[in-house]
Amino acid sequence: MKNIAVIGAGTMGNGIAHTSAQSGFKVNLIDISDASLKRGLDTISRNLDRMVAKEKITDADKNTTLGNITTFTDTKEGIKNVDLVVEAATENLDLKLKIFKQLDEFAPKNAILATNTSSISITQIAAVTSRPDQIIGMHFMNPVPIMKLVEIIKGYNTTDEVTNTIMQLSKTLGKEPVEVNDYPGFVANRILMPMLNESIETLYNGVAGVQEIDTVMKLGMAHPMGPLQLADFIGLDVCLSILNVMYNGFKNPKYAPCPLLVNMVNAGKLGVKSGEGFYDYSESKKAEKVSTQFLK
Ligand code: NAD
Repeated sequence: MKNIAVIGAGTMGNGIAHTSAQSGFKVNLIDISDASLKRGLDTISRNLDRMVAKEKITDADKNTTLGNITTFTDTKEGIKNVDLVVEAATENLDLKLKIFKQLDEFAPKNAILATNTSSISITQIAAVTSRPDQIIGMHFMNPVPIMKLVEIIKGYNTTDEVTNTIMQLSKTLGKEPVEVNDYPGFVANRILMPMLNESIETLYNGVAGVQEIDTVMKLGMAHPMGPLQLADFIGLDVCLSILNVMYNGFKNPKYAPCPLLVNMVNAGKLGVKSGEGFYDYSESKKAEKVSTQFLK
Protein backbone atom coordinates (compact mmCIF):
# COMPACT_ATOMS: atom_id res chain seq x y z
CA MET A 1 0.00 0.00 0.00
CA LYS A 2 1.50 3.34 -1.06
CA ASN A 3 -1.23 5.79 -1.93
CA ILE A 4 -3.96 6.89 0.46
CA ALA A 5 -6.82 9.32 -0.16
CA VAL A 6 -8.34 11.09 2.83
CA ILE A 7 -11.82 12.55 2.37
CA GLY A 8 -12.33 15.65 4.54
CA ALA A 9 -9.59 17.99 5.78
CA GLY A 10 -11.29 18.84 9.09
CA THR A 11 -10.22 17.94 12.64
CA MET A 12 -9.81 14.22 11.94
CA GLY A 13 -9.02 14.27 8.22
CA ASN A 14 -6.03 16.58 8.57
CA GLY A 15 -4.74 14.44 11.44
CA ILE A 16 -5.08 11.24 9.40
CA ALA A 17 -3.37 12.90 6.42
CA HIS A 18 -0.58 14.19 8.67
CA THR A 19 0.06 10.78 10.28
CA SER A 20 -0.06 8.92 6.96
CA ALA A 21 2.23 11.39 5.17
CA GLN A 22 4.69 11.34 8.08
CA SER A 23 4.79 7.54 7.79
CA GLY A 24 5.89 7.84 4.14
CA PHE A 25 2.58 7.37 2.29
CA LYS A 26 1.55 9.59 -0.61
CA VAL A 27 -1.65 11.25 0.53
CA ASN A 28 -4.38 12.84 -1.57
CA LEU A 29 -6.30 15.13 0.79
CA ILE A 30 -9.78 15.91 -0.54
CA ASP A 31 -12.34 18.48 0.65
CA ILE A 32 -15.16 20.46 -0.91
CA SER A 33 -13.40 23.84 -0.99
CA ASP A 34 -9.92 25.30 -1.30
CA ALA A 35 -10.54 27.18 1.94
CA SER A 36 -11.13 23.92 3.88
CA LEU A 37 -8.03 22.38 2.33
CA LYS A 38 -5.95 25.44 3.23
CA ARG A 39 -7.22 25.30 6.83
CA GLY A 40 -6.35 21.60 6.99
CA LEU A 41 -2.85 22.09 5.56
CA ASP A 42 -2.20 25.07 7.88
CA THR A 43 -3.14 22.90 10.87
CA ILE A 44 -0.82 20.10 9.70
CA SER A 45 2.00 22.61 9.22
CA ARG A 46 1.46 24.12 12.70
CA ASN A 47 1.37 20.66 14.32
CA LEU A 48 4.58 19.68 12.50
CA ASP A 49 6.22 22.93 13.70
CA ARG A 50 5.34 21.94 17.26
CA MET A 51 7.02 18.55 16.71
CA VAL A 52 10.12 20.26 15.30
CA ALA A 53 10.23 22.60 18.33
CA LYS A 54 10.07 19.56 20.64
CA GLU A 55 12.89 17.98 18.59
CA LYS A 56 10.72 14.95 17.75
CA ILE A 57 11.29 15.52 14.02
CA THR A 58 13.64 17.68 11.94
CA ASP A 59 12.81 20.53 9.56
CA ALA A 60 13.63 18.14 6.71
CA ASP A 61 11.08 15.61 8.07
CA LYS A 62 8.48 18.37 8.15
CA ASN A 63 9.16 19.27 4.51
CA THR A 64 9.08 15.61 3.41
CA THR A 65 5.76 15.11 5.21
CA LEU A 66 4.19 18.18 3.60
CA GLY A 67 5.66 17.11 0.24
CA ASN A 68 3.78 13.80 0.52
CA ILE A 69 0.40 15.58 0.59
CA THR A 70 -1.46 16.71 -2.54
CA THR A 71 -4.82 18.46 -2.23
CA PHE A 72 -7.94 18.03 -4.39
CA THR A 73 -11.44 19.45 -4.51
CA ASP A 74 -12.39 16.90 -7.18
CA THR A 75 -13.00 13.58 -5.41
CA LYS A 76 -13.03 11.56 -8.62
CA GLU A 77 -9.56 12.86 -9.51
CA GLY A 78 -8.19 12.40 -5.98
CA ILE A 79 -9.19 8.74 -5.63
CA LYS A 80 -8.42 7.38 -9.06
CA ASN A 81 -4.99 5.84 -8.27
CA VAL A 82 -5.16 4.99 -4.58
CA ASP A 83 -4.93 1.73 -2.62
CA LEU A 84 -6.99 2.97 0.32
CA VAL A 85 -9.53 5.72 0.96
CA VAL A 86 -10.12 6.91 4.52
CA GLU A 87 -13.35 8.90 4.67
CA ALA A 88 -13.41 11.54 7.44
CA ALA A 89 -16.16 13.86 6.21
CA THR A 90 -18.87 15.36 8.39
CA GLU A 91 -20.82 12.83 10.52
CA ASN A 92 -24.06 12.60 8.54
CA LEU A 93 -25.59 9.35 7.29
CA ASP A 94 -26.92 10.67 3.96
CA LEU A 95 -23.62 12.40 3.19
CA LYS A 96 -21.58 9.27 3.98
CA LEU A 97 -23.85 7.09 1.82
CA LYS A 98 -23.51 9.54 -1.05
CA ILE A 99 -19.71 9.68 -0.67
CA PHE A 100 -19.40 5.88 -0.54
CA LYS A 101 -21.47 5.42 -3.71
CA GLN A 102 -19.07 7.81 -5.42
CA LEU A 103 -15.97 6.11 -3.95
CA ASP A 104 -17.26 2.74 -5.08
CA GLU A 105 -17.81 4.04 -8.59
CA PHE A 106 -14.49 5.83 -9.09
CA ALA A 107 -11.85 4.25 -6.79
CA PRO A 108 -9.82 1.33 -8.20
CA LYS A 109 -11.73 -1.94 -7.86
CA ASN A 110 -9.19 -3.44 -5.45
CA ALA A 111 -9.01 -0.35 -3.19
CA ILE A 112 -10.16 -0.70 0.41
CA LEU A 113 -12.68 1.94 1.47
CA ALA A 114 -12.51 2.87 5.17
CA THR A 115 -14.58 5.27 7.24
CA ASN A 116 -13.60 7.15 10.39
CA THR A 117 -17.25 7.42 11.49
CA SER A 118 -17.82 7.60 15.26
CA SER A 119 -21.21 5.95 15.20
CA ILE A 120 -22.68 5.08 11.80
CA SER A 121 -23.00 1.37 10.97
CA ILE A 122 -20.18 0.12 8.73
CA THR A 123 -22.53 -2.57 7.39
CA GLN A 124 -25.10 0.08 6.39
CA ILE A 125 -22.42 2.11 4.57
CA ALA A 126 -21.08 -1.06 2.90
CA ALA A 127 -24.56 -1.93 1.63
CA VAL A 128 -24.59 1.00 -0.83
CA THR A 129 -21.40 -0.23 -2.51
CA SER A 130 -20.66 -3.15 -4.81
CA ARG A 131 -17.72 -4.20 -2.58
CA PRO A 132 -19.12 -4.65 0.97
CA ASP A 133 -16.25 -7.09 1.70
CA GLN A 134 -13.75 -4.20 1.23
CA ILE A 135 -15.47 -1.68 3.53
CA ILE A 136 -14.12 -1.23 7.06
CA GLY A 137 -14.17 1.21 9.98
CA MET A 138 -10.91 2.93 10.94
CA HIS A 139 -11.90 4.93 14.00
CA PHE A 140 -8.95 7.16 14.86
CA MET A 141 -8.97 9.18 18.08
CA ASN A 142 -8.56 12.94 18.36
CA PRO A 143 -5.85 14.34 18.11
CA VAL A 144 -4.79 11.76 15.54
CA PRO A 145 -1.02 12.44 15.49
CA ILE A 146 -0.88 11.90 19.28
CA MET A 147 -3.50 9.27 20.20
CA LYS A 148 -2.31 5.68 19.79
CA LEU A 149 -5.62 3.84 19.42
CA VAL A 150 -7.41 2.99 16.19
CA GLU A 151 -10.60 0.97 16.56
CA ILE A 152 -10.82 -1.30 13.51
CA ILE A 153 -14.47 -2.11 12.89
CA LYS A 154 -15.37 -5.16 10.85
CA GLY A 155 -18.63 -4.80 8.99
CA TYR A 156 -20.88 -7.82 8.53
CA ASN A 157 -19.25 -8.65 5.20
CA THR A 158 -15.70 -7.36 5.74
CA THR A 159 -13.20 -10.14 4.96
CA ASP A 160 -10.43 -11.23 7.33
CA GLU A 161 -7.93 -10.38 4.62
CA VAL A 162 -9.10 -6.75 4.47
CA THR A 163 -9.17 -6.56 8.29
CA ASN A 164 -5.62 -7.92 8.56
CA THR A 165 -4.37 -5.48 5.91
CA ILE A 166 -5.84 -2.54 7.81
CA MET A 167 -4.58 -3.82 11.19
CA GLN A 168 -1.08 -4.05 9.69
CA LEU A 169 -1.35 -0.63 8.04
CA SER A 170 -2.40 0.93 11.37
CA LYS A 171 0.75 -0.46 12.97
CA THR A 172 2.81 1.02 10.11
CA LEU A 173 1.19 4.37 11.01
CA GLY A 174 2.55 3.92 14.55
CA LYS A 175 -0.87 3.10 16.02
CA GLU A 176 -2.24 0.30 18.20
CA PRO A 177 -5.20 -1.16 16.32
CA VAL A 178 -7.95 -3.02 18.17
CA GLU A 179 -10.40 -5.17 16.20
CA VAL A 180 -14.09 -4.86 17.10
CA ASN A 181 -17.42 -5.84 15.56
CA ASP A 182 -19.99 -3.50 14.05
CA TYR A 183 -22.58 -2.67 16.71
CA PRO A 184 -23.82 0.79 17.73
CA GLY A 185 -21.08 2.87 19.40
CA PHE A 186 -18.50 0.13 18.63
CA VAL A 187 -16.46 -0.19 21.86
CA ALA A 188 -14.97 3.24 22.60
CA ASN A 189 -18.20 5.23 22.50
CA ARG A 190 -20.35 2.43 23.91
CA ILE A 191 -18.38 2.68 27.12
CA LEU A 192 -17.44 6.38 27.08
CA MET A 193 -20.82 7.93 26.17
CA PRO A 194 -22.87 6.32 28.98
CA MET A 195 -20.26 7.62 31.43
CA LEU A 196 -20.49 11.15 30.03
CA ASN A 197 -24.29 10.92 29.98
CA GLU A 198 -24.32 9.72 33.62
CA SER A 199 -22.10 12.67 34.61
CA ILE A 200 -24.62 15.02 32.99
CA GLU A 201 -27.48 13.17 34.74
CA THR A 202 -25.62 13.56 38.06
CA LEU A 203 -25.42 17.31 37.46
CA TYR A 204 -29.08 17.42 36.30
CA ASN A 205 -30.17 15.65 39.51
CA GLY A 206 -28.31 18.23 41.60
CA VAL A 207 -26.01 15.69 43.22
CA ALA A 208 -22.98 17.92 42.65
CA GLY A 209 -21.75 20.87 40.56
CA VAL A 210 -19.71 20.85 37.35
CA GLN A 211 -16.32 21.28 38.98
CA GLU A 212 -17.13 18.82 41.77
CA ILE A 213 -18.11 16.07 39.31
CA ASP A 214 -15.03 16.65 37.18
CA THR A 215 -12.75 16.77 40.24
CA VAL A 216 -14.10 13.45 41.55
CA MET A 217 -13.30 11.73 38.27
CA LYS A 218 -9.93 13.45 37.78
CA LEU A 219 -8.55 12.90 41.28
CA GLY A 220 -10.50 9.79 42.20
CA MET A 221 -10.20 7.82 38.97
CA ALA A 222 -7.02 9.43 37.60
CA HIS A 223 -8.82 10.59 34.45
CA PRO A 224 -6.73 13.29 32.73
CA MET A 225 -9.86 15.37 32.12
CA GLY A 226 -13.24 15.46 33.90
CA PRO A 227 -16.20 13.95 32.00
CA LEU A 228 -18.07 17.26 31.63
CA GLN A 229 -14.99 19.00 30.31
CA LEU A 230 -14.39 16.06 27.96
CA ALA A 231 -18.00 16.29 26.71
CA ASP A 232 -17.38 20.00 25.99
CA PHE A 233 -14.27 19.08 24.01
CA ILE A 234 -15.95 16.34 21.99
CA GLY A 235 -18.94 18.64 21.30
CA LEU A 236 -22.28 18.23 23.07
CA ASP A 237 -24.05 17.81 19.71
CA VAL A 238 -21.66 14.96 18.83
CA CYS A 239 -22.28 13.30 22.23
CA LEU A 240 -26.05 13.63 21.71
CA SER A 241 -25.93 12.19 18.23
CA ILE A 242 -23.83 9.17 19.31
CA LEU A 243 -26.13 8.50 22.29
CA ASN A 244 -29.13 8.64 19.94
CA VAL A 245 -27.49 6.12 17.59
CA MET A 246 -27.02 3.73 20.54
CA TYR A 247 -30.50 4.44 21.96
CA ASN A 248 -32.15 3.77 18.59
CA GLY A 249 -29.84 0.90 17.71
CA PHE A 250 -30.32 -1.08 20.93
CA LYS A 251 -33.82 0.19 21.83
CA ASN A 252 -32.52 0.27 25.39
CA PRO A 253 -33.40 3.20 27.73
CA LYS A 254 -30.00 3.01 29.38
CA TYR A 255 -28.62 4.96 26.42
CA ALA A 256 -31.35 7.66 26.51
CA PRO A 257 -29.66 11.07 26.41
CA CYS A 258 -30.11 13.17 29.57
CA PRO A 259 -32.74 15.92 29.05
CA LEU A 260 -30.17 18.51 30.14
CA LEU A 261 -27.87 17.45 27.28
CA VAL A 262 -30.77 17.71 24.81
CA ASN A 263 -31.70 21.16 26.16
CA MET A 264 -28.15 22.46 25.94
CA VAL A 265 -27.76 21.30 22.34
CA ASN A 266 -31.11 22.88 21.43
CA ALA A 267 -29.91 26.12 23.06
CA GLY A 268 -26.75 26.08 20.92
CA LYS A 269 -24.44 25.38 23.89
CA LEU A 270 -22.20 22.86 22.16
CA GLY A 271 -19.05 23.13 24.29
CA VAL A 272 -15.66 24.46 23.16
CA LYS A 273 -16.71 24.95 19.52
CA SER A 274 -19.62 27.28 20.40
CA GLY A 275 -17.76 29.06 23.23
CA GLU A 276 -19.91 27.61 26.02
CA GLY A 277 -20.97 24.24 27.32
CA PHE A 278 -20.56 23.11 30.91
CA TYR A 279 -17.68 25.60 31.01
CA ASP A 280 -17.37 29.08 29.59
CA TYR A 281 -14.69 29.37 26.90
CA SER A 282 -15.38 32.94 25.89
CA GLU A 283 -12.46 34.60 27.68
CA SER A 284 -10.02 31.78 28.17
CA LYS A 285 -9.73 28.57 26.22
CA LYS A 286 -8.65 26.78 29.37
CA ALA A 287 -12.14 25.99 30.59
CA GLU A 288 -11.38 27.52 33.97
CA LYS A 289 -14.79 29.08 34.43
CA VAL A 290 -17.92 27.03 34.95
CA SER A 291 -20.75 28.30 32.78
CA THR A 292 -22.95 30.63 34.85
CA GLN A 293 -25.91 28.45 33.97
CA PHE A 294 -24.78 25.99 36.64
CA LEU A 295 -23.75 28.40 39.40
CA LYS A 296 -26.07 28.26 42.39
P1 NAD B 1 -15.03 18.31 10.79
O1 NAD B 1 -16.33 19.02 10.73
O2 NAD B 1 -13.90 18.93 11.54
O3 NAD B 1 -14.50 18.03 9.29
C1 NAD B 1 -15.30 17.48 8.30
C2 NAD B 1 -14.75 17.92 6.96
O4 NAD B 1 -15.42 17.19 5.93
C3 NAD B 1 -14.98 19.42 6.65
O5 NAD B 1 -13.75 20.02 6.31
C4 NAD B 1 -15.95 19.38 5.47
O6 NAD B 1 -15.76 20.46 4.57
C5 NAD B 1 -15.57 18.05 4.82
N1 NAD B 1 -16.58 17.52 3.91
C6 NAD B 1 -17.94 17.56 4.02
N2 NAD B 1 -18.50 16.97 2.94
C7 NAD B 1 -17.49 16.53 2.15
C8 NAD B 1 -17.43 15.86 0.91
N3 NAD B 1 -18.53 15.51 0.23
N4 NAD B 1 -16.21 15.58 0.39
C9 NAD B 1 -15.09 15.93 1.03
N5 NAD B 1 -15.08 16.57 2.22
C10 NAD B 1 -16.26 16.87 2.77
O7 NAD B 1 -15.37 16.86 11.35
P2 NAD B 1 -14.40 15.86 12.15
O8 NAD B 1 -14.51 16.12 13.60
O9 NAD B 1 -13.06 15.84 11.49
O10 NAD B 1 -15.16 14.47 11.90
C11 NAD B 1 -14.97 13.74 10.72
C12 NAD B 1 -15.38 12.30 10.98
O11 NAD B 1 -14.58 11.75 12.02
C13 NAD B 1 -16.83 12.13 11.44
O12 NAD B 1 -17.35 10.95 10.88
C14 NAD B 1 -16.70 12.00 12.95
O13 NAD B 1 -17.75 11.27 13.54
C15 NAD B 1 -15.41 11.24 13.05
N6 NAD B 1 -14.67 11.37 14.33
C16 NAD B 1 -14.54 12.59 14.93
C17 NAD B 1 -13.81 12.69 16.12
C18 NAD B 1 -13.60 14.02 16.81
O14 NAD B 1 -13.16 14.03 17.97
N7 NAD B 1 -13.84 15.14 16.15
C19 NAD B 1 -13.23 11.54 16.69
C20 NAD B 1 -13.36 10.31 16.03
C21 NAD B 1 -14.10 10.24 14.85
